[in-house]
Amino acid sequence: MKITDIKTIRLRASLPLEEQFRTRSGQRKIRSAFLVQVDTNEGVTGLGSCSGNGTILETIVNQVLNPLLLGRDPCSIREIWEQAYVGAGVRLFGSRGIGVVALSGVDIALWDILGKVKNKPIRELISESPRNGVDLYATALYPEQSGGDMETALSWKAKGFQGIKIKLGFDLSSDLERVRAVRSAVGEEFPLMTDANMGYDLSAALKALPILQECGVGWLEEPLFVEDIDGHARLRANSQVPIAVGENLHTRHAFQEYIIRGAVDVLQPDVARVGGISEMIEVGALAERHGLPISLHTYGDAVGLAASSHVAAALKSSTVMELDCTYNPLQTALLKEPLKVQNGTLIPPSGPGLGIELDFDAITKYHYLGEEELNVREAPLRASYK
Ligand SMILES: [Mg+2]
Repeated sequence: MKITDIKTIRLRASLPLEEQFRTRSGQRKIRSAFLVQVDTNEGVTGLGSCSGNGTILETIVNQVLNPLLLGRDPCSIREIWEQAYVGAGVRLFGSRGIGVVALSGVDIALWDILGKVKNKPIRELISESPRNGVDLYATALYPEQSGGDMETALSWKAKGFQGIKIKLGFDLSSDLERVRAVRSAVGEEFPLMTDANMGYDLSAALKALPILQECGVGWLEEPLFVEDIDGHARLRANSQVPIAVGENLHTRHAFQEYIIRGAVDVLQPDVARVGGISEMIEVGALAERHGLPISLHTYGDAVGLAASSHVAAALKSSTVMELDCTYNPLQTALLKEPLKVQNGTLIPPSGPGLGIELDFDAITKYHYLGEEELNVREAPLRASYK
């Protein structure tokens, strides 16, 4: 079997006003996705998803990965990965960043093909004894959203989710008030996670941690800028609150650096960014060697979520997985048969490969050919909390 083409599909859905929400990168008014489809001469095709700027990803796929992969056996995934990364990518697009993101999507598509060739779901290619369901926690609490934090938290708890995550990094004083209020609403036992999206500086994070510890939070995620590994290590040394990092780390090498410098407790790789399923397996091996849990980061479309569900079901160190619970038709309306969430558990599709089929009406509806906007983040919060 030979690869004959790699197609790219950019998608975008506008969010109605009442479904928009505030993030560290500004008001979220749209959701977007970038899919790749790898075609072969035997009619088998594979789907993948990457999480990043669509026009840059399109250029990398069309100019680098497509010419490199044409004519190759799609089932030689590790060889393709090494050649695309070490052989060409590192010098063309760097060892970390958007090139690895593009490679992630292509890698997922190759695993989809491999599963179809072997007539097995991807999770059974990774593990001999994968789980049948993946426990989820809900990422659902953003500031100033309609419904309010407490009601929203209770509603996801009632749906059977294994925990809830609250977004911080906006204002230290109100961040901590929100955490206290949600903790009192959901009770002491329910897992409550916090995510600053790199929104604090070291002093602000050091002030936040004792209160987060008092509130019994499950972890503080991305407290500082991702390259401040020593800062994360200092936070770990100063607090019992686990530090979670990973959605902005690319390749196993980035995770290894955090681990050996004692800067992380919970690994959060994203299959659509880290380097695909192949690199997820490597991060899984690292996690096992160091006795660290993995909690998969997800934030995108249905294709990425399906890939995540197979990985989370197969990796031994995988614990609870993230589900972004904001309104996102690219997550809920993209597949002929939508992914099943039952009582806070995601059921990985049972068909071969990813086990999914795109709904072409939805692809036509959300297909996007325009510009991608640039969001500029505000500087991290400094410690003004008293
Ligand atoms: Mg996060």
